[in-house]
Amino acid sequence: MTVRIRADLEQLPGYVPGRSIPGAVKLASNEVPHGPLPSVAEAVATATVEINRYPDNFGSALITELSSFLDVPAPQLAIGCGSVSLCQQLVQATCTRDDEVLFGWRSFEAYPVLSHVVGARQVRVPLDEHLGLDLRAMAAAITPATRLVFLCNPNNPTGTAVRRAELEEFLDRVPEDTLVVLDEAYREFVTDPDVPDGIRLAEERFAKGRHNIAVLRTFSKAYGLAGLRVGYCYATGTIAEALRKVYVPFSVNAPAQAAAIASLRSHDLLMARCADLVAERERVRTALVEAGYAVPDTQANFVWLPLGDRTEAFNAHCLTHKIVVRAFAADGARVTIGTPEENDAFLTAARSFLS
Ligand SMILES: *Cc1c(COP(=O)(O)O)cnc(C)c1O
Repeated sequence: MTVRIRADLEQLPGYVPGRSIPGAVKLASNEVPHGPLPSVAEAVATATVEINRYPDNFGSALITELSSFLDVPAPQLAIGCGSVSLCQQLVQATCTRDDEVLFGWRSFEAYPVLSHVVGARQVRVPLDEHLGLDLRAMAAAITPATRLVFLCNPNNPTGTAVRRAELEEFLDRVPEDTLVVLDEAYREFVTDPDVPDGIRLAEERFAKGRHNIAVLRTFSKAYGLAGLRVGYCYATGTIAEALRKVYVPFSVNAPAQAAAIASLRSHDLLMARCADLVAERERVRTALVEAGYAVPDTQANFVWLPLGDRTEAFNAHCLTHKIVVRAFAADGARVTIGTPEENDAFLTAARSFLS
């Protein structure tokens, strides 16, 4: 006799994290290249003094800080162990096996896995010809069973972003009983003024009595705290409360909460780092286009190379140059923007692949 694991988990591919290879340049996980600011490292060190104690279960100090930082009411905020945990909590809070989760594809690779685990049916809507989310096709794919829509903006892994007008048109078409999750993991890297700030957009819609939107942000990307695991959600009080119900108790640890608070207080310094990365992003994209790659316009801290069948060969070529990118077989490669030196090393590899 052996322990019985749910038979349907057989179909579930394991989550593949970006690879770390000793001595190689890692451009595979959309992390920022900088270590913590001194003020953040100090907050973490101070918090470790009390790690014999459980953390504040719902992070009230962090919620208070976020509430004033974002200028939104605290009861409409919830924290999670990374925003990927909040994605899972939102699916758990809205879906059972009779329901559908809808998302564009390709998009964030956690969406299929999290949907599968609750047994919900997944509906994937292909990206448009510019590799952006096809919001009209997504709206048309909504059925009475659709409980949740993941809308990743900018989209991981293509970097493309949807603009205000098309997003508003989409939101107007979504039924009130379907929750739209606006996943803004890369919001801080957005420079296109037509790409709306999801928090302000949601706030406007709440004021008009439209309640079916939840916005996710994370401290893992622009804020550089990927190793600590903390993200947050802004939604209605009802959704925030549901998120707290399905929260794994104490899953956001105390050093993470302290680091997030310290990061919000050093927001300007961290955003200056983002501006440098954005400048590098534009330099890298331009160089790739000049070299002959078809790279879609990106609003995130990565570029997407839609290489199709050549993806595996490109990945192998980059590895021989000690560059680790994120390859999605037969589709394309996502490459994170690193330091100028790392980006130069990547560009050298990318140019020699084509020659
Ligand atoms: C990285 C990422 C997240 C999750 O980040 P956490 O580290 O779990 O906060 C969520 N959504 C998208 C689209 C991402 O790329």
